[in-house]
Amino acid sequence: MRRSMSISPPQGGSIAEQELVSSLSWLITLRWLGGIGVLLGTWFSRGFLGIELPPLPLSLLGVAILVYNTIFLRVLHHLASQFPRSKATDQWFARVQIGMDWMAIAVLIHYTGGIESPALFFFLLHIIIASLLLPHDRGFLYVALAPVLVGGVACLEYWGVLPHHSLFGDSRYDNLLYIFGVLSFFTATCYTMTYLSMAISRRLQRREDELAALYRSVQTISSTLELSDVLNRLAEATTMALRCKGAAIRLLDKTGSYLEMAGSYGLSEAYKDKSPIEVARSRIDQEVLSGRTVLVDDTTHEDRLRFPEKVAAEGIHTILTAPLMGKTGPIGVLRAYGGANHRFSQDDAAFLSAIAAQGAVAIENAQAYRLLQELDENKSQFIRMVTHELRSPVQVALSLLNVLERGSIGPLNEKQSELVARGRRRVEFLQSLIDDLLELAAGKTGVLATSDRHLVSLNAVCQEIKAIFEARALEKGLVLRLECPDEEFRVWGDRKELERILNNLVGNAIKYTLQGEVCLQLQRANGFVQIQVRDTGIGIPPEAQPFLFQEFFRAKNARQLEETGTGLGLSIVKDLVQRYGGTIQVSSVEGQGTTFTVLLPLAQP
Ligand code: ADP
Repeated sequence: MRRSMSISPPQGGSIAEQELVSSLSWLITLRWLGGIGVLLGTWFSRGFLGIELPPLPLSLLGVAILVYNTIFLRVLHHLASQFPRSKATDQWFARVQIGMDWMAIAVLIHYTGGIESPALFFFLLHIIIASLLLPHDRGFLYVALAPVLVGGVACLEYWGVLPHHSLFGDSRYDNLLYIFGVLSFFTATCYTMTYLSMAISRRLQRREDELAALYRSVQTISSTLELSDVLNRLAEATTMALRCKGAAIRLLDKTGSYLEMAGSYGLSEAYKDKSPIEVARSRIDQEVLSGRTVLVDDTTHEDRLRFPEKVAAEGIHTILTAPLMGKTGPIGVLRAYGGANHRFSQDDAAFLSAIAAQGAVAIENAQAYRLLQELDENKSQFIRMVTHELRSPVQVALSLLNVLERGSIGPLNEKQSELVARGRRRVEFLQSLIDDLLELAAGKTGVLATSDRHLVSLNAVCQEIKAIFEARALEKGLVLRLECPDEEFRVWGDRKELERILNNLVGNAIKYTLQGEVCLQLQRANGFVQIQVRDTGIGIPPEAQPFLFQEFFRAKNARQLEETGTGLGLSIVKDLVQRYGGTIQVSSVEGQGTTFTVLLPLAQP
């Protein structure tokens, strides 16, 4: 059985085709030896062995072989320069070469003793080459030519049409029985050798096809992490590789008691809708789940099937099932279905197990990925829900404390004012924590939809940030500078998100700087806009730098300086920058200052 899938090596053509191409040039190399061999052999036999070989015809034959080989070499070079190569042309080229060689061997046989010629063995050699190179369906036909050519030479010599060249005296070319005996053995040997070499080459070809199909299947099923895609592609790859009617994957449910249909190819909706199979009642699946590949050769004579009438209605005649073995045990089964007249072989069974083994890995990977996605989404949802619930009571508490602090309901003494102010600061911290958590959850919800993107001028965003932080910087005695060239830097995005990035970075710079300045700088950098936030603040200890972008991380010196802080700001900034296809880097010297550098892709004009 020939399978349809094959990998495409870069030069185009399957491995078998490439093999044909390299065999053609190998044949040409061998032929040089053949031509020279005829010339030298004639001279050697006459000069040293005293065998009376006709020198002229044999020398002409040797030269003719070398001449037509030169022509073949040119043709080969010409064909090699063609792209893509045509398999049909290569096959024709092989046929012409073999045809010419057989004629040359027939001439050689004639001049070296006809039916008694030792050159007969050359034919056998060449027959192996022909049966490897020529298409198998017509190989036997070509091989029939060899006995015909040898028989032809023998008959023409027998009838006296061609002269007989005797090598060793005492000729038997005119003995009919001898001719018949040699021809019979020669023909039988030709066919046996053809059969053997074709069987070997066919086996090799099938192995190659199987490997290619397996390679393709693994490539296809591993190219996605989407579970349903993995399952359907696995079913499709199985069907294609085994050239059968269809395939299906049933996975064990959470209890491990039922096999549920998870993916299929080539099956009708009615068949796919079959109810889950209870493992305890399916003897075939029990056997498969224990790790064996099971073949149901003829569904009409099988009493272990769970839904025989549906199988018959679907036109399924034979079923091959292999286990899908996960890391900790079976996770399901992979079935291949054959219609009427389809036969699965031992090789098919081995092949299905190989695909199932690869498929199980891909399925488990996809399942793990799906689980991770769900966990991530659940986490974000949980954070969103909790923070929303917390937000309103915190806001109410804050406004009540503000009312108290302002003295709207009566003056407070010094102690009371201090306590209320402390309470307000703690509640403000709680509010910023809630805001950060909400932002973090929002940031995790994926890439910004194209429709939500606008052209945002970073120059404008920077101006705004400067305006927001100017008062706070002044309060702390810091200089806040904005270095922005005249050129406008625009990025595709959401203005609020871009403000959030700069807000966090500039806010931190002011928060962690006691004297000196904070500088916000914009400049162009190879298709990107580079945003730098530099400060002359407390810096970041080297041992803390690797953890800076982790959620809730705060360096020791920052905690000592500023009691309040969530450790979420930089994590939010990093998430956002990455969603914009940008990068963020930090360089800092403790006690001297810190520089954050963000690169964002510029919008194309
Ligand atoms: P927070 O500022 O609320 O602590 P961030 O996530 O914004 O949280 O920052 C994490 C940590 O990174 C800070 O606690 C601090 O240790 C360090 N850090 C960030 N920016 C600076 C800066 N400009 N100077 C010094 N340390 C900084």
